[in-house]
Amino acid sequence: MLVAIDGPAGAGKSTVARLLARRLGYTYLDSGAMYRCVALLSLAAPTRAPGPLARAARIELADAPGRSATRVLLDGRDVSEEIRAPEVSEAASRVAADPDVREALVAKQRELIADGDWVAEGRDIGTVVAPGAELKVFLTADATERARRRAAELGADADTVLAEQTLRDQRDRDRAHSPLSPAPGAEMLDTTGLDVQAVVERIAALARRLQRL
Ligand code: C5P
Repeated sequence: MLVAIDGPAGAGKSTVARLLARRLGYTYLDSGAMYRCVALLSLAAPTRAPGPLARAARIELADAPGRSATRVLLDGRDVSEEIRAPEVSEAASRVAADPDVREALVAKQRELIADGDWVAEGRDIGTVVAPGAELKVFLTADATERARRRAAELGADADTVLAEQTLRDQRDRDRAHSPLSPAPGAEMLDTTGLDVQAVVERIAALARRLQRL
């Protein structure tokens, strides 16, 4: 079974997806971490095209219980912290607009989710990576609340985060390839004012209902 969770930055996807995966006993896939790895490679080698970098990258993701973020190994090096820096977020949303990068990473993601039960989270899981996912959820939240949550997480200024987030959202929605949009049939869930547990509960209930069918 595959649960696809998509939505804009800061809608709570990572936290919800990780907790949901644990609740259901599924594996969590943070697809954004892969785009962040390519961004890191691209920042280190700005003259090289990001597509070949994405294809050659060895990205290993491990979601360990008790950790607040997925442990990410890039070509054997632990980059879990590094990929969360604001300049990497910015670069990730730029490399993510490159169709060559998307093709390479979508292939890696499909390979991963081919076996077992997954909660996969990103921007295009329900639309492109796994349109056949049994359950598709599109999480949204008010932009100011999303920026406030992200700022609290990063210990950063909320206005700065809001400005960067608006730019990233715009790029994700307007890009020609796999723009951010709800998949047909996706459950729309606005998390503004909802706590994480309530969101996880709601999606877990939907997943359990499907499991019973
Ligand atoms: O989810 P996260 O903020 O870590 O993703 C970083 C960037 O990667 C996003 O801003 C988005 O541009 C891109 N991304 C994407 N498709 C995905 C996951 C992330 O385009 N499935």
